[in-house]
Amino acid sequence: MAYKSVNPYTNETLNEYENATSNEIEAALQTATDLAQSWETVSISERATVLHAVASQLRDEKQAMAETMTREMGKLIGESEDEVDSCASIADYFADHAEEFMQPTEIETKDAKATVLKQAFGPILACEPWNFPLYQVMRIFAPNFMVGNPVILKHASIVPGSARKISQIVDDAGAPEGSLINLFLDYDQIADMIADPRIAGVALTGSERGGKSVAKAAGENLKKSTLELGGNDAFVVLEDVDRELLYKVAPAARLANSGQTCTASKRFIVPDALYDDFMDALIVSFSEMKMGDPLDRTTTLAPMSSEHGKEKLQKQVDEAIANGAEVVYGNESVQAEGQFFMPTILTDITPENPIFDQELFGPVAQVFRVHSEKEAIQLANNSQYGLGSVVMSSDLKHAEEVASQIKAGMTFVNHGWTSLPELPFGGIRNSGYGRELSKQGLMTFVNEHLIYTAENKE
Ligand code: NAP
Repeated sequence: MAYKSVNPYTNETLNEYENATSNEIEAALQTATDLAQSWETVSISERATVLHAVASQLRDEKQAMAETMTREMGKLIGESEDEVDSCASIADYFADHAEEFMQPTEIETKDAKATVLKQAFGPILACEPWNFPLYQVMRIFAPNFMVGNPVILKHASIVPGSARKISQIVDDAGAPEGSLINLFLDYDQIADMIADPRIAGVALTGSERGGKSVAKAAGENLKKSTLELGGNDAFVVLEDVDRELLYKVAPAARLANSGQTCTASKRFIVPDALYDDFMDALIVSFSEMKMGDPLDRTTTLAPMSSEHGKEKLQKQVDEAIANGAEVVYGNESVQAEGQFFMPTILTDITPENPIFDQELFGPVAQVFRVHSEKEAIQLANNSQYGLGSVVMSSDLKHAEEVASQIKAGMTFVNHGWTSLPELPFGGIRNSGYGRELSKQGLMTFVNEHLIYTAENKE
């Protein structure tokens, strides 16, 4: 069975689940299609009431949802609770704003009236990753629910318990059957679903490997797709940075969620003048991390989500070292049962190192010394990816100028990565295409239907 919950802190198998049968898939497709059709006569405000109820249900079940995520993929309980709060805000945001986003717009044109209606697209397939089990689903579910697009969820195979819990919360909030259907699908079943004419679009958040496969199937079937993929985000420090702020933001930007965040800062680019101080501060912060039970509120570094994830990261670090990288801190085995990876700092990674432009998805920081701002920007842009990035400086105007030169979908000034319902989230290059959240995210699977009415001329 591919769908399996294993607690990465204890290595205990919590549950295993069978893949969906072809009857279940057929029923899901039909239910979603019927719901999409019935929603054509349901007002947006009616769905807004239900989505607010989903937000309330999430708040009511915060503890149970948070513990499910922590037990299944290991994140700190406080991080899980914050995730539930943030998802309730996402639901409220789209419930409050969708009606405005979906208003028809008029276009000025000669001798005619032109109106663009905003109409539903149809059932959407969402393939989601395990690193934020609830948030990744809410990013796609909340806006599409408001648009009138039912969502069929294929969650990551290591978080099936979270997937079930999310769909139960949506059902218990009173959403009509088919609003969010969780299916345990294998890759062939996904390809078949994308090919099914009842599926209107597909969204994937995950790796390039998964993204390429889903985008290929979508292309072959002329289905719209969005891809939210990985990153190798740069953290650019300018010389006039507020050091106190820097030493607070930098470790968290790398280590939150045990380093398993797409927009985590992975490459710290530091000017020569600050380099030694920065390194000392980073070593202190990394050495102060307390590994332990993620349900214990005094733990500050959780285990990684799975044995597979930990082994992959170790292989990458070993390869980096074999090709000349230096370990300044960490990379020692952790004497504990769970999937812990010691926070690690690597330097001397040259562009020839095979790891130079790979995503290290765990608590490993790469630090680079630069001698000018130009060199910092060039290094930040020397990547196949373009998801997030950070610029740290006391001169905000200048920091924004530097930010505008970074080739990425998002740059945060004097702040680690963040995600809010009103901010578009997404990347460029191998980090994918399309945006989630915000008005832009909601408009992804909307038919912008032009009605052109010629003026009567006697
Ligand atoms: P992944 O292996 O690509 O998995 C993501 C989802 O896609 C899972 O549900 C997975 O199912 C499915 N999938 C994988 N290969 C597939 C295929 N060939 N056909 C159909 N479905 C497929 O990614 P991951 O390693 O779990 O997630 C971590 C990655 O996600 C990192 O690279 C991270 O940066 C990225 N990420 C990006 C964002 C963003 O917004 N840009 C946000 C979070 C994470 P299975 O679990 O069954 O394999």
